[in-house]
Amino acid sequence: MDESIKEEIEAANKKLENADAKEVLIWAIDRFSPKIGIASSFGAEDVVLMDLALKARPDVKVFTLDTGRLHEDTYSVMEEVRKKYGKELVVYSPDTKALQELSEQKGFFSFKESVDNRRECCVIRKVEPLKRALSVLDAWVTGLRRAQSTTRVGLPKVEWDEGNGLVKLNPLADWSEEEIWAYIKENDIPYNKLHDKGFPSIGCEPCTRAIESGENVRAGRWWWESPDTKECGLHPGRKQC
Ligand code: SF4
Repeated sequence: MDESIKEEIEAANKKLENADAKEVLIWAIDRFSPKIGIASSFGAEDVVLMDLALKARPDVKVFTLDTGRLHEDTYSVMEEVRKKYGKELVVYSPDTKALQELSEQKGFFSFKESVDNRRECCVIRKVEPLKRALSVLDAWVTGLRRAQSTTRVGLPKVEWDEGNGLVKLNPLADWSEEEIWAYIKENDIPYNKLHDKGFPSIGCEPCTRAIESGENVRAGRWWWESPDTKECGLHPGRKQC
């Protein structure tokens, strides 16, 4: 990161720490447009983020990763959002050659066989498409929140994404889960119905299950693995995919 970007990020955090999410979004979109994208996997935070951003700046780019193994409920909410906002989503799919080779050489459920195989699948279906998406941007916006886990307590609203080499915005950093759901209900926003069926964290269909009452919110992701390995590489060190 060069010194001028570092100084700009520090100044932006001072200015925006007490600003609401809409102000953070407007600042970011006006600063980086057109080389800024809202990343969405259509979870509860992401639909809030999209609603705020599209109401403020309808032309902002919204992109998603279609891993090819998503739940039908996830495709349904993607379709509802397209129609509600009349918005063309930019969709990044896995590289065809890499995916064909994976299926031909290891079959269709290799991710269940070992942590290495699971990571290989996540790299092909998520990490590489995300890198492709970010390669054309100067900034990206996520729905990460500080209250989601102990690893996110110090999450800034504006940060440098070292792994991907661009600015990362987290406008919902100081929102609670209750505020997210209140916003969804008050604004009648389409949301993934899996959230009503015991899925607090939603990823690919074969790698996500509903959780029981009292279980950790991440318990339904790659439940056959040890908690230490549950990362796919989208937000290194922050355990979210
Ligand atoms: S979550 Fe599962 S199916 Fe999706 S990319 Fe990772 S290993 Fe593959």
